[in-house]
Amino acid sequence: MKYLYETHLHTCQVSACALSRGRDYIAAYKAFGYTGIIVTDHFFNGNSRLPQDLPWKEWVHRFCRGYEEAWEAGKKQALDVFFGWEETFDGDDYLVYGLDKQWLLEHPEAAHWNRREQYETVKFYGGCVVQAHPFRQHYYIDTIHLAPTCVDAVEVANASNEEASYDALAMKYAQALGLPITAGTDIHYVEYLQGLEIPFGVYLNKKMDGIEDYVMAIGEKTLGDLQMSPGRCDFHGNETVRLPVDIRDKADLSTGRDLWDLLGCRSIQRKEESRSPRPGEVSQKIYYP
Ligand SMILES: [Zn+2]
Ligand SMILES: [Zn+2]
Repeated sequence: MKYLYETHLHTCQVSACALSRGRDYIAAYKAFGYTGIIVTDHFFNGNSRLPQDLPWKEWVHRFCRGYEEAWEAGKKQALDVFFGWEETFDGDDYLVYGLDKQWLLEHPEAAHWNRREQYETVKFYGGCVVQAHPFRQHYYIDTIHLAPTCVDAVEVANASNEEASYDALAMKYAQALGLPITAGTDIHYVEYLQGLEIPFGVYLNKKMDGIEDYVMAIGEKTLGDLQMSPGRCDFHGNETVRLPVDIRDKADLSTGRDLWDLLGCRSIQRKEESRSPRPGEVSQKIYYP
């Protein structure tokens, strides 16, 4: 038996761009056969509706409201609900999993991290960081910032990306780095789920008892297959990157590195057929129900 999880979800209690409350999602995710959802509202520097000048503890209490409401409703309807968040830097977004409300209350500095501090601190306290939709090229993004050494995994399939090519590029990127891959709906209102051909998510072989099980599956590269619409991450070689790309290093400084060199795309189509897996390469399959 396999267990399906939503990894990327926003509530209107916290995310300015969301329309549904935490509790509104529960019945729909149950109906689609999910075992659980991870609430990942926009964090301090993202599209949050919470005033930044609130006292920190008050800010954290309010930040957790969407999750807490979803958790209460989930308990009644037997859908597991977990906590995470999505932080934004310069148009680039990161899903953070594994730290909880109590931790946030004690760590106001989390509001002012750079990408390196985020990664090092989250790892130190037992969490993990996943770059969300790294190749999204929507109107509000002017540069693609990639932090290949400040993440544990890459969200390769994001149902809210306008073009599947963004997901194909993200898949190529994850493969080039040898990082685990995730999929999420990035849902902002519950009706969106019903409108999808197939809702997105990640399968785990074991039921999650807590968010630490998701962190562990990423760390040990034991995430299961992904659920997404057919062909979503297929690379055709004609994917375009219309924005400048900034590849950053461990210290969160620009490297000036070339994207296509990093992706190995200049010769990849020729090599692809005969290539055998590299050591440590993750072999997750994509699942189309
Ligand atoms: Zn949003
Ligand atoms: Zn999001």
